[in-house]
Amino acid sequence: MTFPSTPLLALDTLWFQVAGTICNIECTHCFISCSPRNHSHEMMTLGECERWLAEARELGVREYYFTGGEPFMNRDMLAILEATLRQGPATVLTNGMLLRPDVCRRLRELFDASDYSLDLRVSLDGFDRESHDAIRGRGVWDRVMIGLRNLADVGLNPVMTVTTAAEGVASAEGRARFLDIIRGFGFDRPRLKVLSLFRIGAEEQRTRAYEDWERLTAESLTDEEASVLQCSSCRMVTSKGVYVCPILIEEPEARMGDTLRDTMRPFPLKYGACHTCWVDGVTCTT
Ligand code: SF4
Ligand code: SF4
Repeated sequence: MTFPSTPLLALDTLWFQVAGTICNIECTHCFISCSPRNHSHEMMTLGECERWLAEARELGVREYYFTGGEPFMNRDMLAILEATLRQGPATVLTNGMLLRPDVCRRLRELFDASDYSLDLRVSLDGFDRESHDAIRGRGVWDRVMIGLRNLADVGLNPVMTVTTAAEGVASAEGRARFLDIIRGFGFDRPRLKVLSLFRIGAEEQRTRAYEDWERLTAESLTDEEASVLQCSSCRMVTSKGVYVCPILIEEPEARMGDTLRDTMRPFPLKYGACHTCWVDGVTCTT
């Protein structure tokens, strides 16, 4: 089978797997199977991140995203954000459980002090405690509600993300329900992003793995069409080097090099997840 390739047109977006694969919870749909015990990728230090930021600055990167695992488990996270916000806009993807009052106050200070935007993306996976905790674990809903109130107290308006694992979210009615939940915290400009599921990691066990037919081929997708996928303008750095995108960090062949410059080349779209990106029009950015 011949696979299409996506070129790297411009390195606009740099992702950091800043908490490695370490998370304080263990969601049943996590496409990289993060957990408190998964050390496949380790936490990144402030020094490591500063080195990536320096290379990114030379290459003209325009925006930065931080994910894990749970980024706020990284004790350097606030210092890493401070360094990042000196050179560009930053977004942190969080499960919302560690948004304590002191963390939120510091985030507000960083937001106020920077010329660039700081965004937080907080995940919810259901309309209520029961449906959410069935996916994310017992007690998680209550902790996230506290975190959202703490964010509201300092006037930071997060982007809420939900996956299609939550029943009914993708419908217009489901979206409207979520927007009402967000407004309930006093966020008068509610923002919602619905995310596709990738049939890899824990999600592969929860539902099913990709079938062989769920692949892109040179016949189904031209290289030109492939150039609209997010991997044509992003890379992901982890404790183990540079990967093509935020989704394929457990695929050995998706590790493209030791420096960002090493990765300025096309990438073959041969994974089931690539099929989801194309069919669902996925972009992991906000
Ligand atoms: S989906 Fe997010 S919050 Fe859930 S286990 Fe994975 S990294 Fe952690
Ligand atoms: S999973 Fe998506 S973003 Fe990653 S290489 Fe495949 S198409 Fe690109």
